[in-house]
Amino acid sequence: MTKTVKDRQFRPVAVPDVELGGFWGKWQDAVCQSTAETLLDRCVEAGMIKAIDVSEPSPGIVIPIQPWGGTTQMFWDSDLGKSIETIAYSLYRRPNPELETRADRIIDMYEKLQDQDGYLNAWFQRVQPDRRWTNLRDHHELYCAGHLIEAAVAYYQATGKRKLLDIMCRFADYMITVFGHGEGQIPGYCGHEEIELALVKLARVTGEKKYLDLSKFFIDERGTEPHFFTEEAKRDGRDPESFIQKTYEYGQAHQPVREQKKVVGHAVRAMYLYSGMADIATEYRDDSLTAALETLWDDLTTKQMYITGGIGPAASNEGFTCYYDLPNDTAYAETCASVGLVFWASRLLGRGPNRRYADVMEQALYNGALPGLSIDGKTFFYDNPLESTGGHHRWKWHHCPCCPPNIARLVTSIGSYMYAVAEDEIAVHLYGESTARLKLANGADVELRQETSYPWEGAIAFTTKLARPAKFALSLRIPEWAVGATLSVNGRMLDLSAHLTGGYARIEREWSDGDRVALYLPLALRPQYANPKVRQDVGRVALMRGPLVYCVEATDNGEDLNAIVLPRELPAAETVVLDDLNGAVAIDISVEREETEDWGKALYRQTRPERRPHKARFVPYHLWDNRAPGEMLVWVQSEK
Ligand SMILES: [Zn+2]
Repeated sequence: MTKTVKDRQFRPVAVPDVELGGFWGKWQDAVCQSTAETLLDRCVEAGMIKAIDVSEPSPGIVIPIQPWGGTTQMFWDSDLGKSIETIAYSLYRRPNPELETRADRIIDMYEKLQDQDGYLNAWFQRVQPDRRWTNLRDHHELYCAGHLIEAAVAYYQATGKRKLLDIMCRFADYMITVFGHGEGQIPGYCGHEEIELALVKLARVTGEKKYLDLSKFFIDERGTEPHFFTEEAKRDGRDPESFIQKTYEYGQAHQPVREQKKVVGHAVRAMYLYSGMADIATEYRDDSLTAALETLWDDLTTKQMYITGGIGPAASNEGFTCYYDLPNDTAYAETCASVGLVFWASRLLGRGPNRRYADVMEQALYNGALPGLSIDGKTFFYDNPLESTGGHHRWKWHHCPCCPPNIARLVTSIGSYMYAVAEDEIAVHLYGESTARLKLANGADVELRQETSYPWEGAIAFTTKLARPAKFALSLRIPEWAVGATLSVNGRMLDLSAHLTGGYARIEREWSDGDRVALYLPLALRPQYANPKVRQDVGRVALMRGPLVYCVEATDNGEDLNAIVLPRELPAAETVVLDDLNGAVAIDISVEREETEDWGKALYRQTRPERRPHKARFVPYHLWDNRAPGEMLVWVQSEK
């Protein structure tokens, strides 16, 4: 039987099966050396450990209840969950017995906290026990469970320890009895999506389909009528109309998910929902979900996404507004939202490699998510503007600390986004110095070594290590921007166009030990112009090189970055390696600069500013604010 593209089911490889060096290795070292421990320290300082320690009295309400009827304290389990997940991945890279003991102790506390029936939630067991399952719309109960499930899977994969996994299986088994359409069951779902994708991870690691079925139930129920959130509010004695976010669009519950055509509401929630939908589409080969996701993908990436892969321009709803509304200086573009976009894109690859998704995954990873972490792994961005007058800096922590562990867990698990396997195919979605141990369902064990200085240089070499020859396809992404890419196998050049499927070069053959594949992706500097409907970018240009968006910073270029004017035709640029920025490649380029010093005192005058030749230095946007603080700008003036 010949297989169609949609028949394939790609699943990510386990994090410990990929070892990173080079670019990502440095970032992972920063998390191992600093972030992983910092996350736990901050959780302790916030009082999160006391909240789960049944040998201590409950700390009660530490963060006051807000007008929306809840407090961020309700999500503490999620912060602990994401921190344990990060620690798990970091332990695989760098053993740290002290940190592992700290994580084990937290897991022991969760074991003691768990109710007989399997229920587990620090807030609703210790602070508001009478409010369990009464307000799924606002209270993040299943969201917290989802993050603890993800932590459990990660901790099990990294350490082999099952305790947290068993705890969360008990909780998930209990959920299966609680949720449904049967007598006394709740026909509901969480206001903040996350449980859906977490249950898929649990199903994949345990082999238990019942967890997939529960995830599918939450997805299928969402937005159906009679509306669960309305019925739930009435049952709870609350006015369904009295809702701070005013619309169920906020949590993508305004319509059944298969009918949704526009990306709306809270950006992180949207990304987590679509990630869960994509996983379920893969597992059940659900074409109706895939079709809905394709429409939503187009909506997001052609009308609502920053060039950085940042999404959700508004702080008011931490999310989406109207089409083409992409303000640069006030961009919210939460780190978590771009992390979520990476999650979604990677899961859309479950039904087969397609650069339409993978190119954006890479764009959002390098330019939307990664800025959230400083080079030393010690400070974090929550919102990610594309222009700053000098007042925007990384935080040591944040009152809602969702972003630090989110970017940290993504960085430390990046190997599982680089490679995916189907029955007889290996897909390489992202490039970076690494070694992957891959097990194909057809029995082949393949070690794939990837040698490269990507994303700084475009040469990438793969070497296979195989105990015996094996037949499988190797699919390598050829990014749309990589015009002039070349590919060879064991020194023989391949005609790329003849091998391209969905933007991937698919090499199907019998592979032997020591086979070599050489891929070259030209990293030409390229100007990027925004659709003229984006009013904030009119007359402006941004620079990209490979997957990286560049920006100018005051520390290299002085103040008044808006005075820089890029010529209509890009002049030759020089690349410079910056040792104080992780060996980043900077770009020095001849531009013009409008007079600011010589302009005089007048605020307005009849004559245009003079222009003088100037050499500007552009640096990768993800590295901004790692040196002397000051102005920053992505979209610079373009000569008319
Ligand atoms: Zn966040």
